[in-house]
Amino acid sequence: MNQIGTFGASRYAMGELQLFRDAEDPAVTAALAPCAVVRLAAGQQVEDGLRARLYIVLSGTLEVAPDAHSGNDDGGVTRVFPGESVGEQAVLDDAVNLAAMTALEDCELLVIEPELVWQLIDRSNVLARNLLRLLSFRVRAANAQLKRRQKLGEFYRQLSLNDGLTGLYNRAWLNEMLPKLAARALQDGSPLSVIMIDLDHFKRFNDTHGHIAGDAALSAAAGVIRDSLRPSDFAVRYGGEELLAVLPDTHLDLAGIVAERLAERLRTAMVFPDMRLPLPHITGSFGVACLEAGGDEHALVAAADTALYRAKEAGRDRVSV
Ligand code: GH3
Ligand code: MG
Ligand code: MG
Repeated sequence: MNQIGTFGASRYAMGELQLFRDAEDPAVTAALAPCAVVRLAAGQQVEDGLRARLYIVLSGTLEVAPDAHSGNDDGGVTRVFPGESVGEQAVLDDAVNLAAMTALEDCELLVIEPELVWQLIDRSNVLARNLLRLLSFRVRAANAQLKRRQKLGEFYRQLSLNDGLTGLYNRAWLNEMLPKLAARALQDGSPLSVIMIDLDHFKRFNDTHGHIAGDAALSAAAGVIRDSLRPSDFAVRYGGEELLAVLPDTHLDLAGIVAERLAERLRTAMVFPDMRLPLPHITGSFGVACLEAGGDEHALVAAADTALYRAKEAGRDRVSV
């Protein structure tokens, strides 16, 4: 980056600079005349040490990488074209300019020292207005980017809380939500029940029909469970072929009835309606439990698991409370 002259002696016109549009008066022209014009070869970086300066691209294109120190490092690289400026915000709030600026092609830049920026603002209302407009634009763009990022974050969060095969909530969701649901139930004195479900002889199903058919059957069974619950209930893939239904505001008796309904739906569901193969219907074993006073989510899941074990022992394809 080397100085090749001053703005006054250069071939560039002030009216072409965004910030100085309609601000051409003799005082501003005179103030700008001694400012340095520097040249950057393609690939070269602006070296401004720790001092914030205002740069205006006169020719070429400058690429501004996000400020890594502000956490704004999500790849929001911007390009600055002739007539546009960079660094005005750092000058105004006296911050260190940490954004890395690199010439995409040979560039000429006008460099304005911060003291002069303030003098120009005092001297020219038009320049001050141009600057306000520019800042307003930058704030709006930053807000839009923030919103996009929030949406994307929410999307990935949802993705991370859902199981890829079945589309049910996953263990991460359960670990986050069940303690909250349990705490709320205990606090409100409202019942909270869960149903632990384990598909019957699923290893045999895989061995007989193959793992791919097994995946599809598991996914279909999960769909049957989810679609048979009320909108206020939650269906979770607890482990391999183990599912958990979480039923807020539900007493043990009612949870038992819901479990019977799930068992019946699963037993009669056509898992592969489009296949002519005589595949067996899938059944499951169901263990039901309700949160006890003084208990917690661990005790609740353990109780459902114990009940499920009893259902298996008793012959499978049934509910145990
Ligand atoms: P039971 O529960 O009735 O006692 O017998 P089981 O054969 O279902 O029990 P076990 O827990 O021993 O085996 C579960 C089987 O489920 C083992 C594994 O092959 C199968 N399984 C678990 N997760 C998946 C999966 O994501 N896809 C497929 N295809 N199979 C799975
Ligand atoms: Mg199992
Ligand atoms: Mg099983």
